[in-house]
Amino acid sequence: MHAVARLPEEWKESLATRGERPFRAQQIFKWIHARGVLEPEGMTDVPEALREWVRSEGVPAVAETTTVHRSSDATRKLLLRMADGATIETVLIPANKGNEEDADVAGGDDEDAEDSSGGNAEVTYTYGGGNSNARSTSGRPGGTKGQGDRVTQCISTQVGCAMGCVFCASGVAGLKRHLGAHEIVAQVILARRALEPDEELRNIVLMGMGEPLHNYESTARALRLLTHPMGMNFSPRRITVSTSGLVPEIERLGRDFAGQIGLAVSLHAADDATRTALMPVNKKYPLAELMDGLRAYPLPKRRRIFIEYTLVAGKNDDLAEARKVSRLLRGLPVKINLIPMNPIEASTLGTPPMERVYAFQQLLIDDGYTCFVRKRRGDDVAAACGQLALLGAKPRIRPRLV
Ligand code: SAH
Ligand code: SF4
Repeated sequence: MHAVARLPEEWKESLATRGERPFRAQQIFKWIHARGVLEPEGMTDVPEALREWVRSEGVPAVAETTTVHRSSDATRKLLLRMADGATIETVLIPANKGNEEDADVAGGDDEDAEDSSGGNAEVTYTYGGGNSNARSTSGRPGGTKGQGDRVTQCISTQVGCAMGCVFCASGVAGLKRHLGAHEIVAQVILARRALEPDEELRNIVLMGMGEPLHNYESTARALRLLTHPMGMNFSPRRITVSTSGLVPEIERLGRDFAGQIGLAVSLHAADDATRTALMPVNKKYPLAELMDGLRAYPLPKRRRIFIEYTLVAGKNDDLAEARKVSRLLRGLPVKINLIPMNPIEASTLGTPPMERVYAFQQLLIDDGYTCFVRKRRGDDVAAACGQLALLGAKPRIRPRLV
């Protein structure tokens, strides 16, 4: 296992084989994960010889940031190169900057009072920047005045994706390889360096390239590293895993983390035929099974599952489908995020007119659901969801380099 993926106990073991004292394990783990120092030179309380060994274990080489694209709305896309040359992307989305009109929902939302400390309420900002219209059922004024701007980071778990969703650039590209836990965590370590002085990394969403639960072992280890009290000490509630619906792994995630990790599920249709046409994974885990899996997720009280629904023009965006969604989700503690499809080069599928999107949303709101429409962010640097394409993804306009 890569050194950056080691937990403190595992550092202890590898240090013991070198006859080193156990407390060095904590020191090294803290440098890497709490302070984000990957260069052994910076590990000032570690003796020279040990620093050399840390270097030889490949710690500094885990990944490097090759480019930072900054979009006009302050969203930043980082391109990272892995040790084997694979390139992946991670996106930083500030809740407020470049997004003032949405600031009213940036400070948390509605009745999830426990989310005032973060929670995964801000997951709505992954690509969306929150509610883009005046029809939300919720959202309170306040934003994050007086505090740093809250940033949500969207991270990748695979190079490409094997799930083959027809509207998704990663899906169309296919799976190149899984990321290791060290590569998943390195995205956060490196992105923290791209934060501005007034920014605070508050939420992490596993919604970048790849299907996190198809890479369960590495994803779970990355979650342990990110939430480790001696490392970044992220609250599990501020991390959300988004899945296309791998039912056995949803169950495993619930069990392994006692339901503390936020769960987002990509629904995209409420009948099997439509869903299978959009996402082939539905053949393996059809809706009835998926719903049983969601009902069984050990969600803490007052938390909700995020339902992601990408609206694809003429495919899943009519009111009949909205009614089916309403029936299907009845009784489940959910929040629904509608995402008008971002067009991708590899497909002729498109975005529905906004009236259709709002009509879909209104029906769900009238039926008592909390339902947001996400505004696209980072569009001009192809950082919006579904556009995390593979190697050499070209921004549509010339980016301003940070
Ligand atoms: N594989 C996981 C997480 C990554 S995809 C999943 O599918 O949930 C994250 C979200 O981006 C999913 O909800 C997906 O449906 C959405 N998405 C992918 N391509 C998109 C596109 N072109 N337009 C809008 N949303 C898209
Ligand atoms: Fe994979 Fe998610 Fe894209 Fe589907 S939407 S292909 S599961 S990354």
